[in-house]
Amino acid sequence: MTDPTCHECNGINYCCVGRASKILDNCPMKVSPEIEKQAKEIYKTDEFVKKCTRIASIVEAKGYIHWPRLKDTVEYAKGMGYTKLGLAFCVGMLNEVRKIAEILEKYGFEITSVCCKTGGLKKTDVGVPEEYTMISKTGYTIGWITCNPVAQALLLNNAKTDMNIIVGLCVGHDITFTQLSKAPVTTLVAKDRSAPHNPTAILFSHYGKEFFSKEFKEMKKKKMTVPNTPDIK
Ligand code: SF4
Repeated sequence: MTDPTCHECNGINYCCVGRASKILDNCPMKVSPEIEKQAKEIYKTDEFVKKCTRIASIVEAKGYIHWPRLKDTVEYAKGMGYTKLGLAFCVGMLNEVRKIAEILEKYGFEITSVCCKTGGLKKTDVGVPEEYTMISKTGYTIGWITCNPVAQALLLNNAKTDMNIIVGLCVGHDITFTQLSKAPVTTLVAKDRSAPHNPTAILFSHYGKEFFSKEFKEMKKKKMTVPNTPDIK
């Protein structure tokens, strides 16, 4: 195995502090020095990467722990010289996005925003099976209009925003949006309705432990192999 598995590295990583009693056999610093070298070269030669990395690190150092992510976003955008920001938001976050826009405007940015349901396209028109429209499998009303990350990206491209900010787009819709957005994209809110939009909350909670152990038991029972889930095709 030569693909990196940094998540399996123990203790304080060699790459963070420059020393370690034992490093993984597949540590990329050991097995792929040419890629590490290539990355270093990109930081030197790609003007966007150079500036973006420098500004992001300065923002991290200036506000570490004290600044909320929204303030980090403001400072990053200011550092990059951006003046016009786009908000690609989930319709369920209208109250939040209004507050976000108000704050960003007070910092002097020009704001343009696009709701995920723009266009009013039917889910069935984009290939979603009828049974996955209107009512969720967990019993909530979800409607028949599809999220439309393609139009969100095209509209913000047309508005020539300097940077776009994701506010609670669904998993997958965020990927489409990021792929089609011409301006660089950052995520302010990662939607997770089960845990007030904090996807890590589940990792150390009793609820999370129960949830996943039930899932894994069910998978074992059905002899399912990851990532094949016959439920979603
Ligand atoms: S020391 Fe190597 S394997 Fe460990 S986290 Fe750093 S790069 Fe990854």
